[in-house]
Amino acid sequence: MKSYLSPDIENRLAWQQEGQVMNSFGAFLKRRHGGRIQRVSIDAGFTCPNVDGAVARGGCNFCDNRSFSPSRRVRLQKVAEQLETGIQTVRRRYSKVSGFIAYFQPATNTYAPVEQLAEIFELALSIHPEIVGLAIGTRPDCVPESVLSLIEKLAATHEVSIEYGMQSIHDDSLRWMNRAHRHEHMINAIDRSRGRKFETCAHVILGIPSETHGMMMETAEEISRLGFDAIKLHNLYAVKGTPLGTEVLEGKVEMMEYQTYLHTLVDFLERIPPHVIVERISGDAPPDFLIAPKWCLRKSELRLDIENEFRRRGTIQGSCWTPPSVQPSARPIPPDITPEQIRSHIEQRGRLPVLKLQDQ
Ligand code: SF4
Repeated sequence: MKSYLSPDIENRLAWQQEGQVMNSFGAFLKRRHGGRIQRVSIDAGFTCPNVDGAVARGGCNFCDNRSFSPSRRVRLQKVAEQLETGIQTVRRRYSKVSGFIAYFQPATNTYAPVEQLAEIFELALSIHPEIVGLAIGTRPDCVPESVLSLIEKLAATHEVSIEYGMQSIHDDSLRWMNRAHRHEHMINAIDRSRGRKFETCAHVILGIPSETHGMMMETAEEISRLGFDAIKLHNLYAVKGTPLGTEVLEGKVEMMEYQTYLHTLVDFLERIPPHVIVERISGDAPPDFLIAPKWCLRKSELRLDIENEFRRRGTIQGSCWTPPSVQPSARPIPPDITPEQIRSHIEQRGRLPVLKLQDQ
């Protein structure tokens, strides 16, 4: 088990004594910090190696990456302003908030020279006394050693988590999504991340058309084998302006039905270890952009139905979990396999001109 977990392991398992059916993120943060913690989403102007040609062009089939172009990004608000605005918005919505996490969300938020990443992340942590940490969304093939060392250093004083776009453990599914990385990159990234002071979250998509129920359960078992600290589960959904959106409109691809998703999700969570935090159980998009499935907008209903399904079965998260034969902490640390194309793209391009901090 990771060293930082030991003082926190009681917080991670307390949900079982509270009569909950799963280890929900909001409740966990409340226990850890003694009050409500809200994420504030930041678009720092990064692009993605799957869009700019480093590993591929076009991006993932579900991702609306048109906004990643430099011409659009120059109009972005500076990181500092986004944080201030985001904090004010949250404060208007909730009367009691104990702290904030700066969430670097769109694009690949480790795709820049490490010195520039240090500037951005340190700025975000220093801008407001109530910012308790960072969450950094990225691809598993874009975390060279220098980046992991930087994040580890930041995690010595703050709560930091890396959210890895795992999506599936099946390479055929990753190809279908045009991810332009393989599952071996995910294994490599998590094996090099484990045991450091930051937390790791796996972003997984359920409902990929070619995946059987058994294949999705294999992904659940891999989460436990690899030793993630948290998961974020999304149903596959299609938005306008994406290759997936076009295929759905043409009737070539179908999205998972509500009942199938509900049962698959509960089956999945039954295989997830109890100490793993569940950060999300579905994904959606603004109604104007969403093509399908429309049911993903009914988030409260889904949450209630999931709880009811657990109670009907008499199970909870982890009920069908079998601990892996090799403890994740005993897995060897492999050499870094970050693709050379990504390293050289960062090197040749140098500082990303569109990243904005304060008064540049
Ligand atoms: S890797 Fe992430 S940011 Fe890049 S195209 Fe795919 S979903 Fe979009």
